[in-house]
Amino acid sequence: MSHPDSLATLAVRAGQQRSQFSEHAEALYLTSSFVFESAAQAAAGFGGGTDRPVYSRFTNPTVTMFQDRLAALEGAESCLATASGMAAILMTAMSLLKAGDHVVCSNAVFGSTVTLFGGILGRFGVETSFVPATDVSAWRGALRPNTRLLFLETPSNPLIEVADIAAIATVAHDADALLVVDNCFCTPALQRPLKLGADLVVHSATKYLDGQGRVLGGAVCGSKRLVGEGMLPFLRTAGPSLSPFNAWVALKGLETLELRMLAQSAGALELARRLEAHPKVLRVLHPALPSHPQHALAMRQQRAGGAVVSFDVKGGREAAWKVVDATRLISITGNLGDVKTTITHPATTTHGRITPEARAAAGITEGILRVAVGLEAVDDIEADLARGLG
Ligand SMILES: *Cc1c(COP(=O)(O)O)cnc(C)c1O
Repeated sequence: MSHPDSLATLAVRAGQQRSQFSEHAEALYLTSSFVFESAAQAAAGFGGGTDRPVYSRFTNPTVTMFQDRLAALEGAESCLATASGMAAILMTAMSLLKAGDHVVCSNAVFGSTVTLFGGILGRFGVETSFVPATDVSAWRGALRPNTRLLFLETPSNPLIEVADIAAIATVAHDADALLVVDNCFCTPALQRPLKLGADLVVHSATKYLDGQGRVLGGAVCGSKRLVGEGMLPFLRTAGPSLSPFNAWVALKGLETLELRMLAQSAGALELARRLEAHPKVLRVLHPALPSHPQHALAMRQQRAGGAVVSFDVKGGREAAWKVVDATRLISITGNLGDVKTTITHPATTTHGRITPEARAAAGITEGILRVAVGLEAVDDIEADLARGLG
């Protein structure tokens, strides 16, 4: 099937494969294995010589539909889905790295990504240096002869800093290394890292791709050589596979991705503007605000600012906790990417395990709150926050 190249159309149509029953909606293939008509056909299937699905660890038609649709949205040749976002990052590392290799990673990445690169992979002889995402010369300065991978998350969490994907891709390619971008915060609806020069995109489908807080999932997108051929052996052998049910939920989530991302970004910007005018708020961080340090870059690189707003409350931890505790509508949870608005106090939750010095160096003060804006009315979200701001 060929389709126009518009995101809206691809999100609804790309990747669908109909069965002999000609169902309109995508079918959910809840089966662990697939049967063959003969011994010879089974042998061919296992040998990888056919397109026939074999076993759902690595070939399930519902998972394939999700992969093909996400690949189309990211403008990628190939996509492989995984059980979670962390499984996608693990698959990337295990497929591309070996003992003795070096990784450069931006320092404000998802907490488990820090633990994976800085801790677990270190035990297998892979060393990782962490650099400030927005400092291109720091990326260049951290390179070593054995640097194989650069890993970037933009915008960052919880300070919503925006890093220059094209510039960092050039740094990577000058060193014969690959650039991986975690595109969880923006999704392909707002940012397409492959078009900016990145080699691979990783996703937590748990967040905006599902978009309604229902399932875990993940994915890696990139060239056929790096992903479809390069990572399939790890997926097939180690089995960090996406369940067909979760794939089906996320596949349907993709249909409304663009609508949700644009609406939630608009809501976040409106909330950010109102918070910026509040006397109890020291500063507000959202890429679409002209006061954002990388505003110009963000508006060039992203189609909108995204749904996450962070703001620093006067009065430190006590004042910030008061805002959290006074909420009645907003959910108090570290998760994001839902149509329900969530709030978190990073210094004592998502970033509570790093040292106070490291937190201070990263600019994560005790007064910072992160709100991931959902689809409720902005007036209601603002009123819920205003109660605790006093
Ligand atoms: C949540 C998240 C992950 C990990 O995804 P899981 O699906 O929870 O494993 C990775 N990167 C970012 C930016 C995230 O927000």
